Amino acid sequence: MLGERLYSRPGSHDPGGGSVKVRVAINGYGTIGKRVADAVSKQPDMELVGVAKTRPSFEARRAVEKGYPLYVAGEGKLSDFEAVGLRTAGPVSELFAKADVVVDAAPDKVGKENRKIYEKLGLRAIFQGGEKADVAEASFNALGNFDAGRGKKSLRVVSCNTTGIARAAAVLIGGWGVDHWEVTLVRRAADPAESKKGPLNGIVPTFQLPSHHGPDVRTIFPDLTIATTAVVVPTTLMHVHVNHVRLRQAPKDTAEIVEAFRRTPRFRIFAPWEHVEGTPQVMEYARDRGIGFNDMMENVLWQDGLRLDGRDVYFFQAIHQESIVVPENVDAIRAMFDLAPDGRASIAMTDRALGLSQT
Ligand code: NAD
Repeated sequence: MLGERLYSRPGSHDPGGGSVKVRVAINGYGTIGKRVADAVSKQPDMELVGVAKTRPSFEARRAVEKGYPLYVAGEGKLSDFEAVGLRTAGPVSELFAKADVVVDAAPDKVGKENRKIYEKLGLRAIFQGGEKADVAEASFNALGNFDAGRGKKSLRVVSCNTTGIARAAAVLIGGWGVDHWEVTLVRRAADPAESKKGPLNGIVPTFQLPSHHGPDVRTIFPDLTIATTAVVVPTTLMHVHVNHVRLRQAPKDTAEIVEAFRRTPRFRIFAPWEHVEGTPQVMEYARDRGIGFNDMMENVLWQDGLRLDGRDVYFFQAIHQESIVVPENVDAIRAMFDLAPDGRASIAMTDRALGLSQT
């Protein structure tokens, strides 16, 4: 079932499943928006119709340099862009008129305000994890609950940390069942470009106990027993999760679990001989590989950092906050428009287009 707007597009009606592409608008062109724009533009079944930004910046300039139609978002003024010589395609309302779906990548809580506009226009929307779950009809993770996204008019791609846990939960629940999960999130203080945030020195515990991440994971796996705690540390590279999971059934050995993660798309397991000691080497690997913005869109696990003790499994995983949700946004669009038979097929299509390894 494709969206009504897609069906009503002149000359595009193709119920036989031909070459109609879903037209995607990106509203909010920052850390997440610019990455999703690139990812969408690489998909064979999607067309990036434009991106919207509130004010001129180096990112707005890059959008123009890449040939993306640039629209003026929110309270932004066309004259501000004209004044610095940045060519725009018009106000964001004109972008919305051309799109079948908008990916809202505006700052936290702004998506909730933008939702009113999308609803008025009957425009389908994908929101990000900075919004509360009730911003959309369902929360989404491709490995966790792809089918819940089918045919929805609005979806929320859960946050970077929740995405990382949900992917791992899909593997562990599917393989052995989970009785109980405890995770401490060691959170990055800021994204690399956020020079005004901190802490610059120090470790800051989150006094909400347990933290909000556990309930957020339950928007994907409602029956999962999970308790999360968090501290913020002065790094910009990645988050690291310290996990202790009591499984329902005991795996044969550690290797069985490592193999299950290795077989699952969107996981990268580093072997001891690769000498990846921590997040600096992970991100150096990402720079070597050069996908996206030198991104690491997979959950990163260390083979040496996974231990089994009966039914108890302990493991670390690193999460690149700037990019882990990028392929999930693509899959959310595919679920919404019913463009793939199942989550694994969508993931394979997305990852192939992005240049991620095919597991
Ligand atoms: P960002 O600040 O880097 O980018 C937001 C962009 O939205 C900016 O370009 C800004 O100019 C624009 N904007 C401001 N007001 C707007 C409006 N009214 N309409 C449209 N655009 C507007 O933010 P981000 O880090 O990309 O975060 C976007 C969303 O993604 C948030 O919900 C956030 O919680 C979520 N998210 C962020 C990360 C991360 O680590 N950065 C990870 C996962 C999810």
